[in-house]
Amino acid sequence: ISKDCVRVAARVRPFNKREKDAGSRCVVSMVSSSITIQDPRDPQNRRSFCFDFAYWSHSGFFQDRSGLFVPEEADGRYADQDSVFQDLGEGILENALQGYNATLLAYGQTGSGKSYSMVGYGPNKGLVPKLCDRLFEAIRGNQETRQCQVFFSMMEIYNEQVIDLLSQGSRTSGGLRIREEQQRGFYVEGLRTVPCDSAQQVEQLMEQGTRTRTTAATHMNANSSRSHMLIILQLKQIFSKENITKQSNINLVDLAGSERQRSCGSEADRLKEGTAINLSLTTLGNVISALADVAVGRKVIHIPYRDSVLTKLLQSALGGNSRTVMIATLSPADICYEESLSTLRYAERAKRIQNRPVVNESPTE
Ligand code: ADP
Ligand code: MG
Repeated sequence: ISKDCVRVAARVRPFNKREKDAGSRCVVSMVSSSITIQDPRDPQNRRSFCFDFAYWSHSGFFQDRSGLFVPEEADGRYADQDSVFQDLGEGILENALQGYNATLLAYGQTGSGKSYSMVGYGPNKGLVPKLCDRLFEAIRGNQETRQCQVFFSMMEIYNEQVIDLLSQGSRTSGGLRIREEQQRGFYVEGLRTVPCDSAQQVEQLMEQGTRTRTTAATHMNANSSRSHMLIILQLKQIFSKENITKQSNINLVDLAGSERQRSCGSEADRLKEGTAINLSLTTLGNVISALADVAVGRKVIHIPYRDSVLTKLLQSALGGNSRTVMIATLSPADICYEESLSTLRYAERAKRIQNRPVVNESPTE
């Protein structure tokens, strides 16, 4: 079995209004795939990181009449949604078509561009809808050799509870249960999986899921930046001539904001959230650190996958049977220096993780 490192990309977004109003300076710079961040209080103090990809989406764009971000001619450096998709999305699609599991994670502080990169807004479609477009295109193009089925599910992890974003009422029932099976590993029991045959259908489901997420958050007086959103696309390909079935799972994860959770809401909520909400994010960090240690040959006794819901569900994506990509999103501003530096360090650790992906194929039943 061949080893395969987690691929890491960093992306820096434009200044937002708050940063502009504060007269922020940009402390991030990129040259090809290396990123340098400068301490605003000590400009001599710079740290550089070398990732697989670095996307400069900071400036040099304008929004056209439809709201689409297009690069300004004067500055062709703005990395748009298409160029991010070409590097990260195409590879995931190819892997999935070959029968590998694939995972894409977006990590960064709230407001840094995770959802923009993963899902996108309006005409600026992100990785997930672009991936679906291309997936169904590929399926149509390959009809002679294989018969394909796609299943879509979408959930939220909040306070260590799994909420099905495609079915009503799962929130009131206190969340879905996680189960474990020898073959399958961890999975969510009773999660709705919807068979899909077009990208439009997937987009509608995503809209439905996003609506459920925000209304539910408002209802619970919660902030959706504190929850994780996980989409699972299952692809089943039946090759009738060869009598082979290939199955791949694509996990698409928009993680909770990585910033230290500042408390708001009632005291009870705060206590509950303090312990549980970020149990998943904290445990993810612990799992990544442990796996990074394994990769450099340190003795590690225990990888704490079982300590949180998120790490259970992502077990195969982290050091297992998956090809995994992380996109680390950054604010360019001096006022976010600490958070951005911590995001870069986190991503650097994730880059050391080695997976062992295999093609999931078996004789057609
Ligand atoms: P997050 O999901 O990390 O909380 P968002 O993706 O919602 O953050 O981004 C916050 C804001 O920044 C949004 O208004 C979004 O349109 C804008 N933004 C983020 N990334 C980019 C980018 N690469 N190019 C242009 N605008 C961006
Ligand atoms: Mg978001």
